[in-house]
Amino acid sequence: MIPILMVASEAAPLAKVGGLADVVGALSAALQELGHEVAVVLPRYRGIPLDGAQRVYGNLEVWFGPACYRANVYLREDRSRYLLVDCPALYDRPGIYGPPGGDHPDNHVRFALLARAAIALARHVFRPRIIHCHDWQASLVPVYLRTILRYDPTFIATRTVLTIHNLGYQGIFPTSALAEIGLDPEAAVTAGMSFDGRINFLRGAICLSDRITVVSPTYAREIQTPELGFGLDQLLRERSDVLRGILNGADYSEWNPETDPYIAAHYSAEDLSGKAVCKQDLLAEFSLPQQSERPVIGMVSRLDWQKGFDLVREAAGELMAEDLALVVLGTGSPEYERFLRELAAAHPDRVGVRIGFDNRLAHKIEAGADIFLMPSRYEPCGLNQIYSLRYGTVPVVRATGGLEDTVDESTGFKFRDYNARAMMEALRAALAAWRDRPRWEALMRAGMKKDFSWRASAARYSELFRELAGY
Ligand code: ADP
Repeated sequence: MIPILMVASEAAPLAKVGGLADVVGALSAALQELGHEVAVVLPRYRGIPLDGAQRVYGNLEVWFGPACYRANVYLREDRSRYLLVDCPALYDRPGIYGPPGGDHPDNHVRFALLARAAIALARHVFRPRIIHCHDWQASLVPVYLRTILRYDPTFIATRTVLTIHNLGYQGIFPTSALAEIGLDPEAAVTAGMSFDGRINFLRGAICLSDRITVVSPTYAREIQTPELGFGLDQLLRERSDVLRGILNGADYSEWNPETDPYIAAHYSAEDLSGKAVCKQDLLAEFSLPQQSERPVIGMVSRLDWQKGFDLVREAAGELMAEDLALVVLGTGSPEYERFLRELAAAHPDRVGVRIGFDNRLAHKIEAGADIFLMPSRYEPCGLNQIYSLRYGTVPVVRATGGLEDTVDESTGFKFRDYNARAMMEALRAALAAWRDRPRWEALMRAGMKKDFSWRASAARYSELFRELAGY
């Protein structure tokens, strides 16, 4: 049993923007099931209720230069043990990171406080052997531990692990931000945070963490190249001895067509009949005509540069020339929202678009679509293709990162070059296969039988933590 303190800015079901939340929620629970003692430090954002929670740390004071922030920390037992840092001055506002499409201007302070609160909790409430930090928002934990606290005997045996869920987000701020997070320029240089005339939270954690993981083996290789290294590839190559890729798992207690409470009918690899009911239900949900002779392509995604919507836009003419229907759920860049709205307006009987975040509808799309499209420019792991495999919704994906690692020719279709022609080629192959029912059912069943449960992934993290803790 290893005491593990996780630090993150999202954890499902309490606070979710994307895949990070799913991973923190499920991994913490899975590690607990493996016998470890786990607690997750999370900001108490607006809307996270405290009923039933117990105050475990009162009047925590954190000084950043002359500014003092006060917080209380509450323990809430959900699927995992959460330590919720309640600092209304920083967290009681709309939006986890900012207003839609934007950032709070003091995010550096908000997540510096998260790190300092985690360290205070590690000292006084839950003494961990491993502190597992997720993404740039938790990256100041190793920075404080290895700079201003480096002689503190409390943390001599504490080891830090950084998991990078998406290298595209590094937490980059002007150097003037240092004074507001209690670090002097010298410490920032020591930590490797000073970079290109600015400070970079993630870079500090990459330099100072004992181990680094990313969320798929292919992504671990890709980030060491200039194309996908986001300016950090050289540093990552230098740290390759402590870097590894561990594939995310899927939470099948939530994503399972045999038990899913959101879908119109349940089904399994042995009995696929319910899926046809789900398809009609999905079409109705989008006010599209009921039909079964046309494949439905589904997409659920942040509408972001990363996710390949420019390929869909470029290929829109060719795509709509095929006999298919398209349903998209997403929110993000106004430019892609506009494109999708226009596409739906131009093809009202074949394209359904819902702009927004809607977990229930995400489940209905996984269940009701025939094909799931993920043409990502890069994809650290990706969860939706893993869910769609389980739902018998055959994925068409770009062969990058976790998409490369989870989809193969027995379960889906891949394209390598990032361009509209390659995407359309893969899609046409999928459409042809869909018309060959026995072949299609074989693809569906092969995908549904794949097991990407958290058990295997959590065991890999466990092995890493044991190695590091010397157990
Ligand atoms: P990323 O973390 O890059 O957004 P992932 O595929 O790893 O991508 O995870 C995305 C998660 O967020 C999935 O659980 C997906 O179902 C969910 N999701 C994304 N966009 C939406 C949306 N608009 N509505 C509901 N769920 C969404």
